[in-house]
Amino acid sequence: MDDQHDVIIIGAGATGLAAARHLCDAGADTVVLESSDRVGGRIATELIDGYRIDRGFQVVNTAYPALRRLVDLAELDLRLFDHAVVLADGTHRYQIADPRRHPSRLTDSLCTPVAVSELLRLARFSVRVGYGSARALLAEPETDAGSYLAAVLDEQTIRRLVVPFLTGVFGAEPLRTSSRVLTMIWRSFVRGRIGVPAAGMARLAELLAAPLPSGCVRLNTRVTGISGHRVRTEVGGFRAAAIVVATDPSNAAALLSRLTAPPQRALTTVYHSTDTAPSARPVLLLDASGRTGIANSVVLTNAAPQYAPVGRHLVATTLAHGQPVDERALRRALGHLYGVDTSSWQQVTTVHPTPGLSAALPPRRHLRDPVMVGDDAFLAGDYRDSPSIQGALASGHRAARAVCADLDLSPGFTHS
Ligand SMILES: Cc1cc2nc3c(=O)[nH]c(=O)nc-3n(C[C@H](O)[C@H](O)[C@H](O)COP(=O)(O)OP(=O)(O)OC[C@H]3O[C@@H](n4cnc5c(N)ncnc54)[C@H](O)[C@@H]3O)c2cc1C
Repeated sequence: MDDQHDVIIIGAGATGLAAARHLCDAGADTVVLESSDRVGGRIATELIDGYRIDRGFQVVNTAYPALRRLVDLAELDLRLFDHAVVLADGTHRYQIADPRRHPSRLTDSLCTPVAVSELLRLARFSVRVGYGSARALLAEPETDAGSYLAAVLDEQTIRRLVVPFLTGVFGAEPLRTSSRVLTMIWRSFVRGRIGVPAAGMARLAELLAAPLPSGCVRLNTRVTGISGHRVRTEVGGFRAAAIVVATDPSNAAALLSRLTAPPQRALTTVYHSTDTAPSARPVLLLDASGRTGIANSVVLTNAAPQYAPVGRHLVATTLAHGQPVDERALRRALGHLYGVDTSSWQQVTTVHPTPGLSAALPPRRHLRDPVMVGDDAFLAGDYRDSPSIQGALASGHRAARAVCADLDLSPGFTHS
């Protein structure tokens, strides 16, 4: 006998959990089938020797509108990073800080190799993208991020400042990203603060899942096929009026033959422990030389001391590739960038998150790919919107609304 429900959601990542929250609020009998033994998908934290290791360095942005609809930010207990970056080239380190949030560091920003005129252009651009109308931004002609930014900033500023920053956000070749995705993500950086939950990124997944009714999420339940209103799993069959495929793109493509998965951008994060923090502030360090392959490095414990045992520090360094890392060479490069002796640093672990990030190449149109695929399934995932937690949550919400319309339910809204 098949297990019968109103809605089956496949995948308990941010997308599937968001869809489940909205559908349960609307009164739909919903089951989430998840192949792994935990919720959260790409949002995960592991405890290794007392260090909180997120599965790839990632952050929550307080300006994500879809996040505020589902999670009480106070419960996340976010530990914020400075609204600034440090540009390092092996010889010097320059800090560029947002003067609204760190007015006392304005002079630091003026003493960088980035010309004052460029900083002003960057500020004007950020104000327009951050506080102008989102609708107007999405109505601009779509191009790639490189062409879009070339109309705003000079080549050197893009190469030395913007590319290193965006590599940590979009992975390799960030300038190929859709200008629409660039402006929406940049908007959230201008409007919000970034940080990590004191308990690690997995806390976000826990909070997304917590209000779901007991038994709603079935772990260790891999879906192996969909036909009509039925799904097959390794532990039996399920049947529902609506099926939402909320997996990562390659697993979605394996379940739905019509779908082509977008290219992936691999990211690798190396975690080091040390007894002395190489910098005093919770701020992203960027490699302005572009020679080391480092996208960014951050002393996580400067923001969240809970990420390491008392008296220790945890440094997360992200590289925009999925290749094995020469750890000694990386440590030397970090020594040059931070300007400290890193010979006593110990590698806690290196993570190669799979899947990585979906490349958001143009055309991404209005970042709202169709939710219905054929008659039998609804499709959701960050790659249907923007490759971010916001994109995943918003896509899950859109799929839930479409299911509600299909099943004649009133969409539920969570205001917790
Ligand atoms: C290294 C890295 C850093 C990132 N940094 C940031 C950041 O700083 N800020 C930000 O906003 N975003 C960041 N992101 C992006 C963000 O993590 C993702 O956009 C988001 O988590 C995607 O959620 P999802 O639910 O769409 O997909 P996933 O998290 O991939 O969830 C899909 C789920 O489906 C399950 N599944 C797959 N196949 C099956 C099957 N056949 N049957 C049942 N279940 C199945 C999987 O186990 C998984 O749990 C980062 C991503 C990575 C990888």
